[in-house]
Amino acid sequence: MERSPHMTSQQFRDAGKRLIDWIADYYEQVESYPVLAQVVPGQIHKSLPPDPPQPGENFDTILAAVNDKIMPGITHWQSPNFFAYFPANTSEPSVLGDLLSSGLGIQGMLWATSPACTEVETLVLDWLAKMLALPETFLSTGKGGGVIQDSASSSSLCAVLAARERATAFRSNEDGCRDELVAYTSTQAHSSIEKDVKIAGIGRRNLRLIDVDARFAMRPELLEKQIEEDKRAGKIPFIVCATTGTTSSLAFDPLEEIGRICKKHNLWLHVDAAMAGTAALCPEFRHIHKGLELADSYCFDAHKWMFTNFDCSCFYVADRESLTRSLDVLPEYLRNQATGSDAVFEYRNWHVPLGRRFRALKLWFVIQHYGVEGLQSLVRRHVELAQIFLRWLQADSRFEIMAAAALNLICFRLKASDELNEELLRRLNHSGKVYLSHTRLNGKYTIRFCVAQTKTELPHIERAWNVIRSEADLLTSTPRS
Ligand code: PLP
Repeated sequence: MERSPHMTSQQFRDAGKRLIDWIADYYEQVESYPVLAQVVPGQIHKSLPPDPPQPGENFDTILAAVNDKIMPGITHWQSPNFFAYFPANTSEPSVLGDLLSSGLGIQGMLWATSPACTEVETLVLDWLAKMLALPETFLSTGKGGGVIQDSASSSSLCAVLAARERATAFRSNEDGCRDELVAYTSTQAHSSIEKDVKIAGIGRRNLRLIDVDARFAMRPELLEKQIEEDKRAGKIPFIVCATTGTTSSLAFDPLEEIGRICKKHNLWLHVDAAMAGTAALCPEFRHIHKGLELADSYCFDAHKWMFTNFDCSCFYVADRESLTRSLDVLPEYLRNQATGSDAVFEYRNWHVPLGRRFRALKLWFVIQHYGVEGLQSLVRRHVELAQIFLRWLQADSRFEIMAAAALNLICFRLKASDELNEELLRRLNHSGKVYLSHTRLNGKYTIRFCVAQTKTELPHIERAWNVIRSEADLLTSTPRS
């Protein structure tokens, strides 16, 4: 009899156990790797065979190639010494939830194709809304509800699409997009908003970037002035995308004022809280959401700071009808007894893809494992550690703080040229001991230090500070203060 190409059940058990051991070992040893992959472009590609194997390989060979060929090209986002960009902090329960989702291998494109996939997602997103004390309008028990998207970029795209349809009495879908539609965001908003506006056919020239104040928050008076000017010019202002925790400096747009302007002029308000939203788990940080009850949609990424692996962007709408009406298409082959009934959610109408993984499982595992209290204590600790780092920086007169330094992101630079700061960052990252990233604030090259890795603790912050100071010693002639 011909040998089956499949793994036997026993081979799968053995390989699976070894892989879990491999991941557990990886987490234990992650600090022994340089945080930033120290490879040159093309190196990984060249190290692998140009053609696929004809007879398949055994698991030992596959795992050996992972160790020898793939691992050198990994930047270790799960290292507690990772302080760059924004986090992607996973956790053991999340990995297991994701594995279970892969194992079940379901495709939850319709409620009927796996009712649990839809219903657990609705439940967990309601849990989360309560955990973050989001406005009740976002709960699925009313007119709103939440859905998991792959990324904040997709969440804001759906907001733009629903807003476009609402503003045009759902005619854009039928007749094409109208050139007069105008969207608004701040100069500090994430680039995904610009991308969304392009994808949605609004056109980049119809996106207004509103100037910010000294804290990098949108200036509402300029927003209103621009809306009025656009209206006078015969345009149709339709959406404001505000940010709760900007990428560059974690600035918070004033949602209350912006929300009032949106209500007055009948604009959709979307709030992008990609990383910072998680902070609202803790009552003492919920001020970041002040005014959120005026929003039409909101998103935060559990895959950034809530110990849940990518991808898991949580997107909420206050009026799900606007969203589903904008995205609904129902071909014959998707019809079933439940379609059209109000008894179930059909999440395929809440985002761009039809197909959907059981992503709620990993969130459910995370929340079940840590509990609300466990998650709160971890977030508090990250903020505390970032603020300790801030105090050390403030005590060293060679450095300047470049932004408000709220929560877990500290933006700083040496009081020196951009070139010297660039060199400082290059050396830090090249050392492999830490990984930080940069931005530009008020025209100046600025280094960002974001504390949110799952296992980051005080010794990691101390080590990072020592590396930063040592490199600063070498680069500046000014002695430490
Ligand atoms: N919005 C903000 C404020 C962000 O900081 C980011 C990523 O840094 C994004 C959106 C995009 O996130 P995603 O990768 O989930 O699309």
